Amino acid sequence: TQPTPVYKRVLLKASGEALMGEQGFGIDVTVADRMAGDIAEVRAMGVQVGVVVGGGNIFRGVAVASKGGDRVTGDHMGMLATVINALALATSLRKLGVDCEVLSAISMPEICQSFSQRAALHHLERGKVVIFAGGTGNPFFTTDSAAALRGAEIGAQAILKGTQVDGIYSADPKKDPTATRFDTLTHEEVLQKGLAVMDVAAVALARENSIPIIVFSIHEKGAFAKIVAGEVRGTIVKD
Ligand code: UDP
Repeated sequence: TQPTPVYKRVLLKASGEALMGEQGFGIDVTVADRMAGDIAEVRAMGVQVGVVVGGGNIFRGVAVASKGGDRVTGDHMGMLATVINALALATSLRKLGVDCEVLSAISMPEICQSFSQRAALHHLERGKVVIFAGGTGNPFFTTDSAAALRGAEIGAQAILKGTQVDGIYSADPKKDPTATRFDTLTHEEVLQKGLAVMDVAAVALARENSIPIIVFSIHEKGAFAKIVAGEVRGTIVKD
């Protein structure tokens, strides 16, 4: 029997780094397949799922800017990287028989559909997993901001941010053994304490639209479904 979900529609943010597994670069298909399995599980619970994918495993705009190149071009490269990841995740989902659609913030009709709120809602209501590619479509933003933006646009009841660690800590738990995990925080506290969980623009947008953010470990198999079933395993940021 399926656990009963506490959400009808959620937005999952998966960083590009999560997709590269142990490789240090690019896409580890085994990891993409596992992530697709986690999404399939949530989809099977009757929950509508939107996914924003990052691109950091392939390219970040700052890499160009830090070597004297043009930041905007760098960010264009980063946004294209998110499209590659979106296609990889869609491929993994289709292997599992999960119907999905990639919607890109940057039009490339030969490859995928262009994003519009209407298209996104249309597919979600028909039970398709919607993968949002291309970030916000603008340089100087991140895919975290894209997650908050798309979350607001589709009326997601929660943004689930999958990270390398299982929640928000008082300090980086990989560097500081005294770091403690928060169970709950408000958006305001995240901003005031300068907790590096999502960038400021993303947290501010989520706060303005009263969307809770749940931070959890993307590497824990089945964690996505458990959170959607109301079992909190991470940190929840809400008003
Ligand atoms: N990017 C951008 N605008 C956006 C989203 C992303 O310019 O709205 C670019 C930016 O260069 C960023 C890269 O795409 O570094 C990859 O996205 P991000 O760093 O958010 O990926 P993640 O850290 O989640 O893997």
